[in-house]
Amino acid sequence: MIQIYCILYLFSNTILIDPRYHTYAEAMQELDSIATQYPSITKLYNLGFSTRDSLPIMGIKISDNPAIKEDEPAILFNGVHHAEELLGGEVCLYLINDLVSKYGTDSSITYWINNAEIWIIPILNPEGHNVVMNGIDTIWRKNKRDNNNNGFFDLDSDGVDLNRNYDFNWEQGGSPDPTSEYYRGPYPFSENETNIIKDLAQENHFVFDICYHNVRTGQGELVYYPWRWGTQFAIDHPFIKRIADTLASRIINDAGNGTYVSIYGYATEGNARNWLYGVCGTFAYTIEVSRSCYPPGYKVDSICMRNLPGAYYLIGRTFGSSITGIITDSITNQPLVTEVRIIGYYDSTLTPRMSDSLFGRYRRILNPGTYSLQFIKQGYDTVSVNNIVVAPNIPTILNIRMRRLGVEELNPKFEIRNPNLLVSPNPFKNRLDIRYETSETGYKTMNKLISGISVPISIRLKIFDVSGRVVKSFDLVTCYSLLTTSVVWDGKDGSGRRLPSGVYFVRLETDGFKKTEKAILLR
Ligand SMILES: [Zn+2]
Repeated sequence: MIQIYCILYLFSNTILIDPRYHTYAEAMQELDSIATQYPSITKLYNLGFSTRDSLPIMGIKISDNPAIKEDEPAILFNGVHHAEELLGGEVCLYLINDLVSKYGTDSSITYWINNAEIWIIPILNPEGHNVVMNGIDTIWRKNKRDNNNNGFFDLDSDGVDLNRNYDFNWEQGGSPDPTSEYYRGPYPFSENETNIIKDLAQENHFVFDICYHNVRTGQGELVYYPWRWGTQFAIDHPFIKRIADTLASRIINDAGNGTYVSIYGYATEGNARNWLYGVCGTFAYTIEVSRSCYPPGYKVDSICMRNLPGAYYLIGRTFGSSITGIITDSITNQPLVTEVRIIGYYDSTLTPRMSDSLFGRYRRILNPGTYSLQFIKQGYDTVSVNNIVVAPNIPTILNIRMRRLGVEELNPKFEIRNPNLLVSPNPFKNRLDIRYETSETGYKTMNKLISGISVPISIRLKIFDVSGRVVKSFDLVTCYSLLTTSVVWDGKDGSGRRLPSGVYFVRLETDGFKKTEKAILLR
């Protein structure tokens, strides 16, 4: 019996799944070697363990300073919620390889890695992926939860459909029947795998997400967006839909005679896309890659390659039309978790859209146009800002200082927040973080709580020694230097020589202003 099983196992393993597809072990090995080869722009994270087999679920963060949570927009890509949808993992791995190999040569990719935090989880469901790759069941979809608690893995009755297990309209989606392929689990977020996405999303406030899937039904080459709920589209529909259309149009289909097509998904199931949008405000898209489930291996590279322009459009869109800023307490300057409402695009049934706790940062992706916003926090005066113009292709910066109720402020009552230049730690040894934010003054007169709106300007960042000699200057990308940005100085001069201990001056200069900060280098 065991022998027969082994023969079948080997037979199905070698015949059914093309070796072009990574096994889980191969994928993890590849992530490992990438992280070893690119330590300055990648970090591998063990985000948790699979529900039944306790397999590590790995995510890679691609960003400069990857060990630190910086004030940068975060984007998530993930594959293999569904075990047999192997292509999702392949697209993720391909994307990772493309990003890291072009850092330093491709100016867009270099900019994104320096100024965004890109998270990629190629295989969210490793124990299910093993079921498929080992040939135990090559169309297995779920994880391996022991639904009947008998200690065995039963193909007929075990497993949870991870993409029905999220806590958003959970009770309306999938199936309550454990034997169903669409079993939604005993309760929302019952599975380790979905909790990984939940925790990561709550920590990172993703602006965008792509969940890569790969249907068996042939209904592929589609970009699903949130959502249709009864007769209603989502409140952010004009923004979400336009991005979905563009994203889909960037991906050439397998036949080569057209592109992927955007389509709404229904809100009434607990999938990742609905939860990410409904609860986190993330514009989350599900891409059904290709029209066949694990097509022959020789087709995989082409399918992955054709998906890159979609992913890259979305990363670039993070730095496009939007309103972003930092919300602080007007007296303490501490970041504040505050609700941000865009008038006309507010849905009281969804979880409020908040700034983050670490930086007070909020980001709202919008179409070009004119918007009014409200910033609401208990114990503070509500701040209303009207008629903010969002331009094409660049973010509008709107920093907000919230005034605590009943607190009298010193003059000036509402100080305009100046462009920032911060250096830390100080003194420093090997690494000085230089954070800067620039802003123009176009909106100063409209509302004194607004720090300003930014336009593309040239920015010069130089480091001088005490004799006034320039020892290092940084080339900063002009058109994108609108958000709070950071660069790292390693204490070396322009030719890479270690500079001696002493006092140095970091000077930020734009057309509108200059600011200098002193930094002390210790050797
Ligand atoms: Zn799927």
